[in-house]
Amino acid sequence: MGTEILRRRRQEADEADEQKRRRIMLNEGRRERIEQRIMDEGELRKFLELFLPRIKRICLVCLLLDEVYDDHDLNSCERIKKALKKVGVESWQKAKRGVYDANSCCYRCSRPSEMCDMAQFGLSQSCSEPDVIFPTVMMGWLDEDMRMKDIVEEVAGRKIRNVHDLLKCMGGRHFEKTLQAKGTKIYAGWVRIMSENKEKLERELGEEDMDIDSDLRDYGDEDELSDELSEESEEDLYG
Ligand SMILES: [Zn+2]
Ligand SMILES: [Zn+2]
Repeated sequence: MGTEILRRRRQEADEADEQKRRRIMLNEGRRERIEQRIMDEGELRKFLELFLPRIKRICLVCLLLDEVYDDHDLNSCERIKKALKKVGVESWQKAKRGVYDANSCCYRCSRPSEMCDMAQFGLSQSCSEPDVIFPTVMMGWLDEDMRMKDIVEEVAGRKIRNVHDLLKCMGGRHFEKTLQAKGTKIYAGWVRIMSENKEKLERELGEEDMDIDSDLRDYGDEDELSDELSEESEEDLYG
């Protein structure tokens, strides 16, 4: 009888050890995944900040369509105008009015408020950055030649019926962070489009001024990692 109890205790202790070991392995795996994600996001964010000044000077939609892109910008693109007219939209600038939820992003440049020098102080109306985001996502869904309908609908989370449906579905506040910033699904869709076309953009917009500011290089540091880890552990507690 005594040996039976001892045997059972030893077995329980072994099982507890095994569980502990498994938990540690799981945590390590998760930590690695989070580290990888932060690295990818940090790299993508650096890329976007570096290329934004160049993207602003050209027509991003025509670049993505392999058309002539360096003699006009998104504001004056005839191809966009034509595509929108076909679906009864006068211009993307007009279509944009009233699309965004209050304080969901910068109304002017469409970036998350915290990424815009003006919007972060509630001064969206003073932002003079051109919007390279809104028209690109609109065309990404509308123009079959861009072959990005699937990406946009994936970010939207459902099939989109028409342009108005697209704006209704994606203009609101997005509760998931995109590159660690809170914005709209339109911004999230743009980041996906940029991410899919990173190599093409690098090829087309070249290697000039490739210096990365040191404050950008620090992006994705340990603090953020531990923040994310503690967030996840909290989920475990309640999940
Ligand atoms: Zn164009
Ligand atoms: Zn702005």
